[in-house]
Amino acid sequence: MKKYAAYVAGEWVDASVGGNAIIDPASGQEVSLAPVLAAQHVDGAAQAAQQALARSGWASDARLRADVMLQWAERIERNVDALARRLTLENGKLLSEAKFEIGNQVNVIRFNAGLARALSGHSHSLGSRVMGVVAREPMGVVAVISPWNWPISLLVRDVAPALAAGNAVLSKPASQTAGISIEVLRLLVECDGLPKGIVSMLTGSGGRVGQAMVEHPGIDMIAFTGDGSTGKGIARDAAPTVKKVALELGGKSPFVLCADANMDKAIATLARFIFLTTCGQICTAPSRLLVESSVENEVCERLAQAIDGIKVGPGLDPASQMGAITTRDQYEKILDFVERGKREATLVAGGEPVAGVDRSQCNFVAPAIFADVDPQSPLVQEEIFGPVLTVQSFASDDEAVHLANGTPFGLAAGVFTQNLDRAWFLSRGIKAGTVWVNTYNRFYAETEVGGYKESGVGRMAGFDGLHEFTQTKHINFDSTE
Ligand code: NAD
Repeated sequence: MKKYAAYVAGEWVDASVGGNAIIDPASGQEVSLAPVLAAQHVDGAAQAAQQALARSGWASDARLRADVMLQWAERIERNVDALARRLTLENGKLLSEAKFEIGNQVNVIRFNAGLARALSGHSHSLGSRVMGVVAREPMGVVAVISPWNWPISLLVRDVAPALAAGNAVLSKPASQTAGISIEVLRLLVECDGLPKGIVSMLTGSGGRVGQAMVEHPGIDMIAFTGDGSTGKGIARDAAPTVKKVALELGGKSPFVLCADANMDKAIATLARFIFLTTCGQICTAPSRLLVESSVENEVCERLAQAIDGIKVGPGLDPASQMGAITTRDQYEKILDFVERGKREATLVAGGEPVAGVDRSQCNFVAPAIFADVDPQSPLVQEEIFGPVLTVQSFASDDEAVHLANGTPFGLAAGVFTQNLDRAWFLSRGIKAGTVWVNTYNRFYAETEVGGYKESGVGRMAGFDGLHEFTQTKHINFDSTE
C-alpha cells in the first residue's frame, strides 16, 4: 500500500492525522493510504493562500504563471505511464483509458498556460476626458472539489484555468482517488517559481473538508464537480458567505438515433460510451437511447450483438474491454437498478452477473439494455452512473425533442442523422450544454462544457472556463473640470 501526504499551506501532512485506505475495485485490495484532514487544515490553507496572493506576484505576473504551468505539463508528460497505472489501481478503469486521461492533461495545461498570457479586459472612451477600463481580475482563493470517475481530467479542467487566471487553489480531490490526485498535484507544487501557499491539496471527507471549504469566509469561489444533491447543498451552504459557485453536476443524456444515420458508427459510438468507457460512469454517458421507431427492432438486435461477449475484468489486464465499478456503493446501486429494470421493463440483453469473479470483493458489472420503459420511471429519470441503457422510440423529430428534454438534466446529448436539417432542428431543440452530431463525448481544451437545467451552472474549458475564474472591475478615469 502506497502512503501519501497532503500538502497544506506549503507543508506536507502525512496520514498520522488519520488515514483513508483506497481500495482497488478490481481486487478488493488496499492500494493507497491518503491523509484525512479536518476543518483546521482548510483554515490554514485558506490563510496561507490569501497571504501568498498578497505577498507574491502570482496574481499579477501572467508569465510566471504560464512558466509554472508549462513545467507542470512537462512533468506529467514524463510520468504518464506510472500515473496511469495508479489511476487504474484506484479507479478501476482500463489502463488504456487511464493513459489517455493522464496524457490529455498535458494538452489542457499547455492551452491554459497560453491563455494566462492572453487574459485581457477592455476599455471604453466615455467622453472627451472620461475613460472606463474594465480589468479582469482573479477571484482570489478558489476551492476545486472533484469527483472520482475522471478524477484527473476533472481536477485539471478546473485547476488549470483557475491558476491561469491568477487565483490560489485549494484542491479537494475525491477520497476514492486521492492517491493519484496527490501524485498529479505533487508535480505542480514542486515546480520552480510557484509561491508557497498558492496551491494546497486537502484530502479528506467531503462532509468535513469539502463542507469547511464551502463555509469558509476566506474562500472566494467553489468550483464543484459531482453529484447533483451534493451540488445543491453546496449552493445553499455557500450563500451565507456569498461565494461564487460553479457547479458541474450529473446527467441523463439522450442519444437520438434517426433511421437515416450511419448505423455502424452510431451503434459502435453508443456502445462505447454507455458501456465500455469507465463502465458508463461518465456524467455525459448516453444513457437514454431515443431511436426512430422504424428501426427500433434492428437497433436493439445490433446493440445486443455489440455487448455479447464483452470481457469485463481488471483494468490492468490488456484483454479486458470493461474495467471495474469504482466504489462498492456505486456497484450496488447499479445492480439495484438492473433488478428494477428486470421487474419494470423488457430486458433486451445483458443484465447477468459477471461469471468467474469473486463478487464479494470485485466490482464487476455487465452491460444491461432495457426497452418498454416508463418515461417517468427512475430508470429513465435518475442518473444510474453505470453500464445501463434504456431504449425509447419516437415517431417524429418533435417527439424526439420532447423525450430528450423529459428529465431534470441537461448536460449533453448525441444526435445521429445524415440529414442536415434534422441535425440542426434536433440540436437546437435539445436543452443541453453540449450536443454532439454524428459523434459523442469529444472534449477539447478550447470548447466550453457545462449544464443546462439541473446539470449545473457556469462553464468550464475554453475562454469561458478561464473567465469563470475571474471577476471584472471597472476603473473609471474622469479628468473633466
Ligand atoms: P459526490 O458529489 O459524492 O462527490 C464529489 C466531491 O464532492 C468529492 O470530492 C466529495 O468528497 C465532495 N463532497 C461530498 N460532500 C460534500 C460537501 N457536503 N461539501 C463539499 N464537498 C463535498 O460525487 P461523486 O460520487 O464523487 O461523483 C459522481 C457524480 O459526479 C455524478 O453525479 C456525475 O454525474 C458527476 N460528474 C459531473 C461531471 C460534469 O462535468 N458535469 C463530471 C464528472 C462527474
